[in-house]
Amino acid sequence: MSTLQKTIFGLCILALTACQNKTTTEPSYVVQVSLGGWEKAEYTAEEVIGRIDTVNSLIPVEKVIIGWSKDKEIYKRVGEYLHSKDISMLLWLPVFAETDAVCDNTPAVDLWGNIPANYNLTEGEGFSFNCPSDPHNSLNIINLYDSLFSDCGFDGVFLDRIRTQSFVGGVGGVLGCGCPACAGRYRAEGVDLEAVRAEYEAKGDSFFSVNGYTPSGGFVFEDSVADGYFKAKGRIVSSSVAAIADSLRSRGLEIGMDLYAPFMSQFVGQDYEILSRHADFIKPMLYRKTTAPAGMAFEYEMLLKSAPYATGYLEFKMDVDFLKSQLEAMKAAPCAKYPGIEINYRAGVAETSPEYVRESLSTVMQYAYDGAVLSWNIMEAPDAHIDCLR
Ligand SMILES: [Zn+2]
Repeated sequence: MSTLQKTIFGLCILALTACQNKTTTEPSYVVQVSLGGWEKAEYTAEEVIGRIDTVNSLIPVEKVIIGWSKDKEIYKRVGEYLHSKDISMLLWLPVFAETDAVCDNTPAVDLWGNIPANYNLTEGEGFSFNCPSDPHNSLNIINLYDSLFSDCGFDGVFLDRIRTQSFVGGVGGVLGCGCPACAGRYRAEGVDLEAVRAEYEAKGDSFFSVNGYTPSGGFVFEDSVADGYFKAKGRIVSSSVAAIADSLRSRGLEIGMDLYAPFMSQFVGQDYEILSRHADFIKPMLYRKTTAPAGMAFEYEMLLKSAPYATGYLEFKMDVDFLKSQLEAMKAAPCAKYPGIEINYRAGVAETSPEYVRESLSTVMQYAYDGAVLSWNIMEAPDAHIDCLR
């Protein structure tokens, strides 16, 4: 064979192997381990390793998302185990909330300059948000990674809280951030925040009225000021997240992103199109049973409660068809997709069952995306929810 023939032959073999890898790749699983808040880890390294070992014996675990205690030792020891099993370890890193205990942030304010109402699920799971435009807030996150976590053996970071407050903080949670820095960015997008505020004050709930909804396009606002506002909000919040993601990627880290389900994403500034271009993978949170922030029914109910006279909102049943509509809606994202399904149980907050876990996972797998994330804390998953994964 001539050199050229050899090269062509080599390329064909490479192409064939690549195709084969693609077609034979089974979906794999990502597991989330919540260690609690910054101060003390709620589990020991042995407990975490034991649990992942059990899950990995039933289904192929590809990545573990773990955080965000400051205890480095736990990551070093868990990381050693994970790497010995060819599983990558990602730091679960909250971006625009939760970091007040470890850095000094500028809070987000609503269009009236007030800090929106907070929502505390449990200690260590607060939901008060910081301004997405203040460069100091973004720098805090990068510095946090560099100073606390860069020597722990992480292969990537999983960015959580990459949004504004939702309707959980009432209308003011969604109509923000309205600080001078954000107002300047809206102006550059052709949106005057004072005009948005005046429009809401004049129209009340009907500011949020919609003309229709499609899974891929989201809600269509009747009010052109509201429409312009939410489009700009998506670009502003998501490009801040993109800059943080790019900076972390330049450190050689894989980037995962925690996203609201497509139908609620436009209210919290998550533009799937922008974000998915800066992520290696996205994890849309398709929680049908969680009655806490990011739970799909919960967030929708908060919307309807915050603007009870807004019109055009359909009734969504949290059934398999609705789950399918959300899976369909993420199809265009150019990065890997690992939809998140809650498998933990918490009384009054995530009342899941083995049947629910099975139904959700089998629906997700029908879409043949890259896999699924077992959320939101594998340590709180009852044995029956893990047994049913086999
Ligand atoms: Zn701001």
